[in-house]
Amino acid sequence: MRNFFFLSQWLLKKLRRANERAQGDASDAWTAGSATAGGGNGAATDGAPQLADPLVRCVQCGVHTPRSESIVVAGERFCCADHARAHASRPTGRDAR
Ligand SMILES: [Zn+2]
Repeated sequence: MRNFFFLSQWLLKKLRRANERAQGDASDAWTAGSATAGGGNGAATDGAPQLADPLVRCVQCGVHTPRSESIVVAGERFCCADHARAHASRPTGRDAR
């Protein structure tokens, strides 16, 4: 535990943070040092939420479209309203009669 006094200056800050998170992680905090999530830069975890925009496949034509631009009709995803209508009005089986 002598290391604690040695690095007390900056470790205290980290330790207080680690203690607030979970006491079990505190011991890991000083072994890992700057390799922990903090990185010494403080708050740099302000990622853009737009990164999570998965592509979805149009049921009608198979084109992949960003989810934010796709439309959902009856639980199916389409690239455009046209294909949604086409899919909805497609003949289910043979409508000949
Ligand atoms: Zn389509």
